[in-house]
Amino acid sequence: MILGGIEAGGTKFVCVVGTEKGEILERKVIPTTDPEETLNAVIEFFGGQSIEALGIASFGPVAVDPAHPNYGSILKTPKLAWADTPILHILQEALGCPAVIDTDVNAAALAEAKKGNAWDAKSCLYLTIGTGVGGGFYNGELLHGRLHPEMGHILLPTGLDGFKGICPFHGNCLEGLVSGPAIEAQAGKKAELIEEEDPVWDVVAETIAMGLVNFQMILSPERIILGGGVMHQCHLFPRIHRAFYRLINGYLPFTEDQVKHHIVYPGLGDDAGSVGALMLALNSLEDKRRVR
Ligand SMILES: [Zn+2]
Repeated sequence: MILGGIEAGGTKFVCVVGTEKGEILERKVIPTTDPEETLNAVIEFFGGQSIEALGIASFGPVAVDPAHPNYGSILKTPKLAWADTPILHILQEALGCPAVIDTDVNAAALAEAKKGNAWDAKSCLYLTIGTGVGGGFYNGELLHGRLHPEMGHILLPTGLDGFKGICPFHGNCLEGLVSGPAIEAQAGKKAELIEEEDPVWDVVAETIAMGLVNFQMILSPERIILGGGVMHQCHLFPRIHRAFYRLINGYLPFTEDQVKHHIVYPGLGDDAGSVGALMLALNSLEDKRRVR
């Protein structure tokens, strides 16, 4: 079965053609400019393919509830040109195949649960820490709720080193404290240029671990996957493991060794979103069969 997937991001749309097993056969990267230009290029790419369904893993906020009249539209976003763009509707009309949309991070959680490092777990929290911070949760189905989770914006205490955070809405939310730009604001240089021994990493790891403890207490995931550009700093993992174990403080049954296998990197690497989009496409076909 040939499926289409789009990882729609703020700087690029990664379009893939692949199989129901999540194998990527073809890929095209299209820059995110204005909706008309970008979506026309997307339609041109998929127009030449015979895909049976399309999955869209989108940046947010995006309306992901099929029961809602604006399902499939980008909502109010700092990327003003894209606000209120009915991205799902436009692509579905143009390509004439079933299509489904979800957040990029929910798609990544789905992909990691089906094909990645949470394949042996019943539930999976996927958190990306990069230019922004966002999270998705899969527990047999993807978590939506009133809109969809915005895990990057949970509020955390300031004061670990006096840094107040840079989120324009909240200051000291998780994204305001540990996103790439937040780390840069704290250290005075780009995250990739900061040495491993710099004490800022201890503060970052401690803050990420605090966020993860909160998610653990609320959602009880069986596995936590940490992706995104900041997590390319592999030395963060052991620091986060130690801080998570210490902050849980024996309240939940974790051994130190279990924590190492509980909080892991994405098995699909940077392809988690694209493979997730293919898994979403597959889901849309399975949903249709169930309704019939
Ligand atoms: Zn925030």
